[in-house]
Amino acid sequence: MNSSHEPSTQGTAGPKWQSASESIVLPPLPYAEDALAPVISAHTVAIHHGKHQKTYVDTLNRLIAGTEFAGRPLDTIVKATAGKSEHAAIFNNSAQAWNHAFYWRSLTPRGGGRPDGALEERIARDFGGFDRFRKAFSEAAMTQFGSGWAWLVDDDGKLKVVKTGNADVPLVRGQAPLLTIDVWEHAYYLDYQNRRVDYVNAVIDTLLNWQFAEQALAYTG
Ligand code: MN
Repeated sequence: MNSSHEPSTQGTAGPKWQSASESIVLPPLPYAEDALAPVISAHTVAIHHGKHQKTYVDTLNRLIAGTEFAGRPLDTIVKATAGKSEHAAIFNNSAQAWNHAFYWRSLTPRGGGRPDGALEERIARDFGGFDRFRKAFSEAAMTQFGSGWAWLVDDDGKLKVVKTGNADVPLVRGQAPLLTIDVWEHAYYLDYQNRRVDYVNAVIDTLLNWQFAEQALAYTG
């Protein structure tokens, strides 16, 4: 089936966790379901990955079967359908499939702390220090009204904190995501009920995967 791919799509396959295969796949978690506990329980991870994310992937594959989007890399589908009302369902499910794959890699069992090297320098330059970045990131996650995401992005050479609603993702505006926190209620309600602030602060302080952010930054060139 690969022979049907245009060569030009091969260069846009993105990081290795994205699939350029005929079907969009549910990427396995990069760690065990209980690895993020007690900050995020195994129960939450199992449902979030195995039910919510899987449903986005399965629905997307059903929606794109037999269309121009079948066999295209996930990020290509996200960018091609963004802002097009006739493709809203494909956008929502492809973006959510992308966002969740990125979310799990934004976290790691022994994460948190502070970045070093190039990222430390960029955060100092663009935010005025780690504490200011941390405050901006936490506030974005807290003030996203309703469902959505908080992001650290590289916007044409400048690091920024942004928030998006529902399935929206900064890469459709040319911003390269480096880290994200899912603030849909399904991400935290079983563990924290309405206390989003406790979930957000615990994730920032103990789970953020700065090594992944460094890799993502390097990928932006
Ligand atoms: Mn989610």
